[in-house]
Amino acid sequence: MPEQALPPGSAIGILGGGQLGRMLAIAAARLGLKAHVFEPGAAPAGDVARLTTAGYDDAEALRAFARSVDVVTYEFENVPAGALDMIEGIVPVRPGRRALAVSQDRLEEKAFLAGIGIAVAEHAAVGCREELEAAVARIGPGILKTRRLGYDGKGQARIRGPGDADTAFGAMAGAPAIYEALVPFEREVSVIGARGLDGIVVCFDPGENVHRDGILRTTTVTGAVGRGIRADAALIAGRILNALDYVGVVGVEMFVLPGGGLLVNEIAPRVHNSGHWTIEACLVDQFQQHVRAICGWPLGDGARHSDATMENLIGDEAGRWPELAARPCGLHLYGKAEARPGRKMGHVTRLSAKT
Ligand code: AMP
Repeated sequence: MPEQALPPGSAIGILGGGQLGRMLAIAAARLGLKAHVFEPGAAPAGDVARLTTAGYDDAEALRAFARSVDVVTYEFENVPAGALDMIEGIVPVRPGRRALAVSQDRLEEKAFLAGIGIAVAEHAAVGCREELEAAVARIGPGILKTRRLGYDGKGQARIRGPGDADTAFGAMAGAPAIYEALVPFEREVSVIGARGLDGIVVCFDPGENVHRDGILRTTTVTGAVGRGIRADAALIAGRILNALDYVGVVGVEMFVLPGGGLLVNEIAPRVHNSGHWTIEACLVDQFQQHVRAICGWPLGDGARHSDATMENLIGDEAGRWPELAARPCGLHLYGKAEARPGRKMGHVTRLSAKT
């Protein structure tokens, strides 16, 4: 075992107590590690880990949290910088600051990717109406997105022609934005990569994603993704991981163009919804891999032994649990009390023979 590895019995701190934090805590427990979750609001992860309920501006709570663990990670990319400053003085944060800075701002993210030679959609920064008009005239149809704090399709407006610009600009409510060309993609795929403390990189097979209303519905992983795309996706993830000197798991969302080329849409510096299939279809899943990486353990074998389809249970779909529980599938319920529309309540993974 590497010298810097945290031994079983060590504690990982997790910023954010949603379903990703919950599944990370479960993975940590399997490896004999403890988890301490920090979350200002309701925390499904609190059912399976020690929980601190406090705001990200509560310096005393953050310090106590940091002192109680051996490493800190996070389940969402919008961790306030001030909270990180506080924690970093006490205990390592993995993945590091650069990954967060890049993924918190869509414009910086694109500049970073283009800077390391990775293709992204044509785009322009939009701070005012005139800039939007110029961008639409130059780029054509596209999507206006807030630079920061967007998720699951929130903070986005489509523009088909100059007539849509007014409404779209209004929808940003004055927030700095980015205008992106509408990519005529054939498919959307994502790859979950991991990089250890020793710099070793591994990737899970890419999955094909289907979104509805901006929210991930299904991820399907079969041999049909094709060797070329599999290799290209892994090489892109590896390049991102190395450039950020990254430690942990990353989710990279990509568009597959008609000719087979790949454009990167988004980087998530954390475990990712489109990687949940790995729990059933791989010996070592994305959550285990993330915990191994941040604790300085060797990365595990993430080879896929089956084809898999993961389906999110959104809103009242979680009410299907009695029927799903009676079927041969991996059922996950996140323990959220209220099934609001659009809320991810659980997921289910079905396996079939590997193709
Ligand atoms: P995002 O929040 O950037 O992940 O966008 C959510 C979803 O909107 C993506 O998964 C795509 O289905 C779609 N989308 C986002 N950006 C673009 C784009 N530039 N061109 C076409 N579709 C897009």
